[in-house]
Amino acid sequence: MKTKPEEIVSILREEIQAYDTRVRRDETGTVLEVGDGIATVYGLDKAVYGELVELDTGVKGMVMNLARDSVGVVLLGSDAGVREGTVVRRTGHPADVPVGDGLVGRVVDVLGQPIDGLGPINATETRPIEHEASSVVSREPVNVPLQTGILAIDAMVPIGRGQRELIIGDRQTGKTAIAVDAILNQKGQDVICIYVAIGQKASTVARIQDTLKKHGAMDYSIIVSSTASESAPLQYIAPYSGAAMGEYFMSKGKDVLIVYDDLSKHAVAYRTLSLLLKRSPGREAYPGDVFYLHSRLLERACRLTKEYGGGSMTALPIIETQAGDVSAYIPTNVISITDGQIYLENDLFFSGQRPAVNVGLSVSRVGGSAQTRAIKKTAGTLRIDLARFRELEVFTQFASDLDPATQQALDHGRRLLELLKQPLYHPMPVSRQAMILYVATNGLVDDVPLDKVRSFVLDFAQEMEQEHADVVDEIESTGNLSGPAIETIRSVLEDAKKRVSATWQA
Ligand code: ATP
Ligand code: MG
Repeated sequence: MKTKPEEIVSILREEIQAYDTRVRRDETGTVLEVGDGIATVYGLDKAVYGELVELDTGVKGMVMNLARDSVGVVLLGSDAGVREGTVVRRTGHPADVPVGDGLVGRVVDVLGQPIDGLGPINATETRPIEHEASSVVSREPVNVPLQTGILAIDAMVPIGRGQRELIIGDRQTGKTAIAVDAILNQKGQDVICIYVAIGQKASTVARIQDTLKKHGAMDYSIIVSSTASESAPLQYIAPYSGAAMGEYFMSKGKDVLIVYDDLSKHAVAYRTLSLLLKRSPGREAYPGDVFYLHSRLLERACRLTKEYGGGSMTALPIIETQAGDVSAYIPTNVISITDGQIYLENDLFFSGQRPAVNVGLSVSRVGGSAQTRAIKKTAGTLRIDLARFRELEVFTQFASDLDPATQQALDHGRRLLELLKQPLYHPMPVSRQAMILYVATNGLVDDVPLDKVRSFVLDFAQEMEQEHADVVDEIESTGNLSGPAIETIRSVLEDAKKRVSATWQA
């Protein structure tokens, strides 16, 4: 690094003054230059990567660059008042955040400080924001389901506790909605939920807080917020702070669901930061280690064995694509790190198929072994039926008369799609999912008019829940559909059909 003449004077003067106290110089340094949330500091010879430092103005920083005779410090706060010569002190420990039960129900910034106006947070412990992921020996296979309450997802791309499932799609395709629904569905499931907002609009974060509160989900949730107006360093550390808070609960044997919304913006913040730190740009101007950025974050999600507490951290990272391009740099990176993806499609979204899950491109590589039996059994043919439907639909677009088998497959597919539609903030319990899937995949409602099928099946499910609570409870508690339960479902459905079919002709 080249030092400017005027800086040389101040460095020389300081060298002379500090000559006797050379030892202490390792602990304090001075700012050479500052801008865009980055300070170049001279004199912190012993500082280590990721160490927290404190500036005279009170703002904290994190050491990110170790050059030959200076260190690059990213400021975790305002750079107001920081100028050449400002004294910087080492703290000797890595950047950390407060963790613990006190954070639950709160909205905090990336340093764990409350920003919801509900007073100070009671936290006795801290954890470093950057932390090594749990090792292989401490991990257990994913085999406990994490129900999102979204039928299309729980049926076809099931998520297990400890899994990392990517939610990917263009802007405004319902990515955040899926994550929020999944959080709402954890009510009463003893799962701590952490929503990390990275570079989101403050209004979006406020709306999510509002939604969670309205549905009673704030009681078990933490929101870590770094809004678009905050500096790149703050956006950069946000997901790691969230992960540190989650790891605390995981180490205590709890199950955690963490949402990173979204990692595209995170990558952009890191690119900004890296360019400001004068690191060389690579593909799409991202620095060379951008893969490591997300791999070390997502590796921290896992399921621990009993000996290590038995907790888990399920991660739902979100990636925004441009014009459906999943082959761009950051999307391909994150796809390769995660255990599957939920691909949301613009066309589906605008044709009214919401949630706009593209069945063909969405996968869950480990969740199948964690799927609730009742759902696994009933959803078996769903995926293949829908794939067949898609093919036939294109193929028969202009055909006028179809053979009965083709017509039947089309009717079936249309009804399946209709039943997979789900409004916002209405997660479904397992029993309801199983009942709907049973009647849908077995073609029991293929004779119901298309525009009536959704309301008919929902009414049927409600009738089951009210009149046959024992069956519903049995499905919930055993996670299975027994023979007698199926008989009840069939007879209730037939009766309902007889009752209302007269109104269909009208
Ligand atoms: P952004 O790219 O801006 O982050 P996003 O992909 O996260 O957007 P959302 O904000 O979740 O998308 O949703 C976009 C809009 O679609 C919202 O207005 C939301 O109300 C609506 N929406 C999402 N899911 C559904 C659904 N299942 N049913 C009806 N409307 C929905
Ligand atoms: Mg969003």
